[in-house]
Amino acid sequence: MDVPVLNIAATSTATESLGPGFRAVVWVQGCPLNCRGCVAPEWIPIQPRRLVPPAELAADLLAGPAFDGLTLSGGEPMLQAQALAELVRRIRAENEITVICFTGFTLARLRATPPGPGVAELLSQIDILVDGPYVAARDDGRGLRGSTNQVVHHLTDRLRDCGYDFEHRVRTAELHVDERSVTLVGIPPHGLLATLDSVLADGPVVRGDS
Ligand code: SF4
Repeated sequence: MDVPVLNIAATSTATESLGPGFRAVVWVQGCPLNCRGCVAPEWIPIQPRRLVPPAELAADLLAGPAFDGLTLSGGEPMLQAQALAELVRRIRAENEITVICFTGFTLARLRATPPGPGVAELLSQIDILVDGPYVAARDDGRGLRGSTNQVVHHLTDRLRDCGYDFEHRVRTAELHVDERSVTLVGIPPHGLLATLDSVLADGPVVRGDS
């Protein structure tokens, strides 16, 4: 069976802001929902971005800094479930990782009427699924979920007793900067986006070594 290529918006490695331990992150391009206040509106359009075979992306991530887990976000991962399942399989062949996945669909919907091929297979590889659309009016500024309607499902026991408070922890976020882009990694605490907008509008950028 041919595995489709992934359509990727961005990747990151060695973040501590999207789950326990050091994690690699894959954000996919394209989402059929259009939640008001989505933190990544440029990743909603279903259009080609970086097209990469899962085996190639797995090799890229494994060649970078060591990581304990993989977090899948977007965009909507369940639209690319088949390719993401292959990505997870490739990484787990080399590295024992936990997997966290964010989706705008509810788990019940994914099980009853999956939006594409490979959803059941991907669900079988996920340890924690954070499900449901983002509802800005229910964003309490806490936890590894954007709003309180979203549910943290432990699909396995791997992260059940890890001591990480998925629902209520104080949020952290990181700015990852390279020569081409700045990526905000994490669920933004209240006020962070407005502060960033204001800082970037005011300039100049403050250098930590000066
Ligand atoms: S499901 Fe997620 S990526 Fe899609 S629009 Fe809503 S917040 Fe944005």
